[in-house]
Amino acid sequence: MPLPRQAVTSFLVKLPSTGKQLEMRPFLVKEEKILYIALESGDVEEIQRGIQNVLVSCTLGKLDVDALTSFDLEFLFIKLRAKSVNEIAEVGIIHEGCEKPTPISINFDTVEVNVKKKDRIIKFDDVHGITMRYPSLKDLEELKGFKKNTDKLFTLIDRVMINAFDADDVYDDFTVEEVGEYIEHLTTAQFNKVMKFLTNQPQIEVNVPYTCVECGAEVEQKIQGLRNFFKLGSPTTA
Ligand SMILES: [Zn+2]
Repeated sequence: MPLPRQAVTSFLVKLPSTGKQLEMRPFLVKEEKILYIALESGDVEEIQRGIQNVLVSCTLGKLDVDALTSFDLEFLFIKLRAKSVNEIAEVGIIHEGCEKPTPISINFDTVEVNVKKKDRIIKFDDVHGITMRYPSLKDLEELKGFKKNTDKLFTLIDRVMINAFDADDVYDDFTVEEVGEYIEHLTTAQFNKVMKFLTNQPQIEVNVPYTCVECGAEVEQKIQGLRNFFKLGSPTTA
């Protein structure tokens, strides 16, 4: 006779890239194992894949994996961990220049991603500009097939550019060639704005003010990016 299973309670999370609510359930022991194996590999892509698989199971099949950005993945993982293991992680943090770790508590419920709609609008002058969306992990993954960097770049911009605008109109119907030509006619300063958008994606972050146990300094520490959370201790059990 099969043993009775307990029901798991679901919770709601807001997807940072779209602001849409998503229903999730905590991960189970079998899913935590998948995470462990991925984390132990230390391989960024394997970790990403492991997290992605667990997120799919825990979102009751509702997650649009293709649209997931790196910061969505990190954010959902942190929230999932908070609900599945513990909201508080006790870790040791080392003040720059000191050696002794200061014990701190991080509340994963306070982890956020600072995504502002206006950051997705890149203005080149008073009237010209483009509206972008943040590249998804799938967008980036699919660029691997291109050899030339310019092909990669124009393809990526073609995918994530929602429209170009001027004083008269909004243009949202274009080919990858037209995008290439548009980009080639930008000034270096304008082009750098596009590159900055593509390379500086938002990150998960949390503020942890603490007093260093070694030198007594009051430190305003901001921890950003999943990798830096990992460095502080095991993210699944800490
Ligand atoms: Zn110190």
